[in-house]
Amino acid sequence: MPARNILVINCGSSSIKFALVNEAQPDFILSGLAERLASPEAVLHWQHAGNKDSLLLQGGDHRAALAQLLPLVQSAAGGQLHGIGHRVVHGGEQFTSACLIDPLSLLAIRATAPLAPLHNPANLLGIEAALKLFPELPQVAVFDTAFHQSLPEHAFRYAVPEALYREHGVRRYGFHGTSHRFVSQRAAEMSGLAFADSSWLSAHLGNGCSTCAIVNGQSRDTSMGLTPLEGLVMGTRSGDVDPNLHGHLARTLGWSLERIDSLLNKESGLLGLSGLSNDMRSLEQARAQGHVGATLAIEVFCYRLAKSLAAMSCALPRLDGLIFTGGIGENSPLIRSKTLAYLKLFNLALDETANAACTRGAAGPIHAPGSPRVLVVPTNEERQIALDTLALLDA
Ligand code: ADP
Repeated sequence: MPARNILVINCGSSSIKFALVNEAQPDFILSGLAERLASPEAVLHWQHAGNKDSLLLQGGDHRAALAQLLPLVQSAAGGQLHGIGHRVVHGGEQFTSACLIDPLSLLAIRATAPLAPLHNPANLLGIEAALKLFPELPQVAVFDTAFHQSLPEHAFRYAVPEALYREHGVRRYGFHGTSHRFVSQRAAEMSGLAFADSSWLSAHLGNGCSTCAIVNGQSRDTSMGLTPLEGLVMGTRSGDVDPNLHGHLARTLGWSLERIDSLLNKESGLLGLSGLSNDMRSLEQARAQGHVGATLAIEVFCYRLAKSLAAMSCALPRLDGLIFTGGIGENSPLIRSKTLAYLKLFNLALDETANAACTRGAAGPIHAPGSPRVLVVPTNEERQIALDTLALLDA
């Protein structure tokens, strides 16, 4: 059987990220982004065979963007497209793994929308447009939350009255599951260990950031919760704050819930602390020039990350390795080294040359001889979604 092609789609409210993945090729055949959809500036950008191109979509929406994408995909895939994998943010408690999209699973995905009011409706837009444009192709939903459905109850329950959990689904779900699963599996392969008998801590550090404890191939705890706001300091998200902060701001400043929501999700994190940027590269440059806010933001980011990793270690029987991934985890020797400096009791030591060399997609161990493993593993959520899609086609 010739190697198969899967189109991976990640729909946001005004954007679509896509990648055409061939099961036998490490690089994407075609990849790109449609952005500012349904606005006059709507545009499609793509890369194929080393060339970059763009097309104005004249106010086009998700369906218009996918319709423009269709001939590009067909031509890049040589007419051989075997399925579509959709990233879906929230699968609630219904989805413990990827699922084929059919009327029943669509209903269940719709039913989880209240848990992810910003993300799931956007993901559904993409699914519905793709079903209309590619009605003959099998389509699969891959959930960010599914990998964390193996959390034990003592890790996923909040200490609030039970009725909130039973009747309203208030519990910790966790996100970035596709990435934590991909990198922990790769880490086991890279270390010559069986994934089913291994124990990892993983730190996914992109614009959103989370940690995860993975034991014998299963997520046992993770830092994000009911929503992706819980846990680490992120680009613009605060991560953990005192839950009374909402009440405090409402009482003392008269702020509305919407204002507080926007503060904690869009104006906080690295951006809020530094007063400068949500982008770690810019903050590292500013720190090197003595910028006080950038220096503090980096320190808080690393300390809170170390604290979260130490907390995650409660879920591990032993530590086979610590994994760094995501744009920051894969590219920043400074953040990796500062985080380890705050984790003294773990006895992790870096090989500074290897640490400095692991950037721009390079994978590898960066620990010193005698130290527990520390690995940089580039994530590839699109490939994992394609693999999950293929696994369901083969089932
Ligand atoms: P997303 O979560 O949107 O997929 P990424 O995983 O691409 O984001 O991560 C984006 C973050 O990675 C940004 O904060 C960016 O500054 C950071 N980053 C990328 N390259 C570097 C680098 N060389 N050094 C430090 N941070 C970097």
